[in-house]
Amino acid sequence: MSHRLLIIGSGPAAHTAAVYAARAELKPVLFEGFLAGGVAAGGQLTTTTDVENFPGFPEGVMGPDLMDRMRAQSERFGTTIYTETVNEIDLSSRPFKFKADAQEGTADAVIIATGATAKRLDIPGANDGQLWQRGISACAVCDGALPAFRDQPLAVIGGGDSAVEEASFLTKYGSTVYLIHRRDELRASKIMQQRALDNPKLEILWSQVVTEAKGKDFLESISVKDLKTDQVRDIPVAGLFFAIGHDPNTSFLGGQLETDEQGYLITKPDSTQTNVPGVFAAGDVQDKKWRQAITAAGTGCMAALEAEHFLES
Ligand code: FAD
Ligand code: NAP
Repeated sequence: MSHRLLIIGSGPAAHTAAVYAARAELKPVLFEGFLAGGVAAGGQLTTTTDVENFPGFPEGVMGPDLMDRMRAQSERFGTTIYTETVNEIDLSSRPFKFKADAQEGTADAVIIATGATAKRLDIPGANDGQLWQRGISACAVCDGALPAFRDQPLAVIGGGDSAVEEASFLTKYGSTVYLIHRRDELRASKIMQQRALDNPKLEILWSQVVTEAKGKDFLESISVKDLKTDQVRDIPVAGLFFAIGHDPNTSFLGGQLETDEQGYLITKPDSTQTNVPGVFAAGDVQDKKWRQAITAAGTGCMAALEAEHFLES
């Protein structure tokens, strides 16, 4: 089938783009993915509980409920949604050609809003069905304020800006925050490093790795191995946060769009335009810095407006 506007993804960026595009009568089709990038349709917020920082919900909203509402709003204005993953796309000429799980088609313009997947450590106790989301998270800004973490020892894994930022943020809530890094030098910028070193509630465990997460219904402790001595000890913690980077979901693009060295799509300044005219990128797939639902929604809006102008011209 041929379409005017194809939206790929199903997080806040994709659905905001869909609402704007549908209201502009572009008749968008949205492929929400079927466990694409290991994430359910609805995106990263389907993997969390309370979202307390999305405007309009003073009492907070459960992540999956928020995404159901966004999906309903997309449909209300006439977006056609398919629960399929787009596996291939040819951006070499217009109309662009794509192949999804059960259908293929063409589109005059494309918005890529496929998000990013937080990297997780594959250690015993930390997987789905174990202690993941029961004390273990990959987003301190999102989950750090939960009552279970108040005045408790917490740990963050990583040595980059995210890890230092998240560990510093968590010192607002935890009694002590251990920043566990596999080397004896942080990757984070100098100013962030200094902030970590100056924070009396933050303790850096150098050249150490977490080898296991332990607890019955909720995280109780972690096993930590010192890479220099091979010694392993248990440290009681109520929270463990992975800050070891994200992987943007761009592999299906086959290298046709410009990315940075980590695979994030590059857009023009103040724009969602990629290097291919008519192809726009919104949300975490082009944002390695802010990574919030509201910023994803903001760029989704921009992408729809830019796509509308593109199609008009
Ligand atoms: P995503 O939410 O990443 O969704 C992208 C979707 O596209 C996914 O469902 C994916 O399966 C799908 N997809 C990928 N590839 C394809 C394909 N080829 N075809 C079709 N579909 C595809 N932010 C906040 O503001 N507040 C919070 O409280 C908060 N809590 C969080 C809690 C957790 C545990 C996590 C991981 C993140 C949290 N965030 C929070 C961050 C927020 O979820 C993200 O910034 C936001 O969801 C990014 O939205 P997005 O639209 O870019 O895409
Ligand atoms: P990052 O810079 O890639 O750092 C990831 C960290 O995780 C590294 O320290 C890495 O260790 C560690 N790590 C990776 N895999 C690991 C594993 N399997 N086990 C243990 N540790 C592991 O990612 P980021 O911190 O998310 O930052 C991404 C980008 O966003 C950067 O460009 C950063 O500057 C930017 N950012 C900026 C700000 C800010 O300006 N305020 C905030 C956040 C992010 P090694 O060091 O040993 O490789």
